[in-house]
Amino acid sequence: MAREARTILERSRGRLKFSEPVAAAAIIDVEAALESRADLPRDIPRELPRELPRELGALQALVAACEKCGLCKTRTQTVFSDGTPLAKLMFVGEAPGRDEDLRGVPFVGRAGQLLDKMIVAMGMTRAEVYICNVLKCRPPDNRPPAPEEVAQCRPYLEQQVALVRPVVICALGLSAVQALLETKATMASMRGNTYSFRGIPLIPTYHPAALLRNPGWKRESWIDLQRVRDLVRSVG
Ligand code: SF4
Repeated sequence: MAREARTILERSRGRLKFSEPVAAAAIIDVEAALESRADLPRDIPRELPRELPRELGALQALVAACEKCGLCKTRTQTVFSDGTPLAKLMFVGEAPGRDEDLRGVPFVGRAGQLLDKMIVAMGMTRAEVYICNVLKCRPPDNRPPAPEEVAQCRPYLEQQVALVRPVVICALGLSAVQALLETKATMASMRGNTYSFRGIPLIPTYHPAALLRNPGWKRESWIDLQRVRDLVRSVG
């Protein structure tokens, strides 16, 4: 591994600790995760956790017809993903909002525009990353996802992760972090640490919508995004 990558990993190690009751299995060895990921051909998913399509287009079609939870009754359409399946970086948010429900694309409202700026600040473009949500349907009035909705929809996200195999996952907002890591821990206790989702480094940060409501959090968010960027760069 390049010296630059090792330097980044050395810096990261100091943050790999827990102060809240997140499952011990989530503690991550960033170096091992990145090295195993670096050797993994993109077209051969190592883990496919469910009996779901092994091709993203087929998975998207399955999701579009999904009626596993009550959100199918109120959605305009499902919202599967945006960006490229060849991405090294995957952003995972909570659920579609009004604009996303209407357009069928994640993060296209005001929060999405801010996310675009955040991605550019990291030296990338929206077309170079993969963007999705835990839920594929909009909860009415943008209410938080219900646990049973997350449980029903989570296998689709797990399959997306298995098929894309990003180098790093950036979880946007508390609901996404809690759903991915299956924890009740707070954002304040989790920010600054690196976790694991199916062996892939996961870094939590604020949802762009939260940054619009609380501009003072942007500085902390930028610290998180720089860690994400550095991990992505460390594998070339
Ligand atoms: S939210 Fe997920 S599980 Fe519920 S209907 Fe939509 S795609 Fe299916």
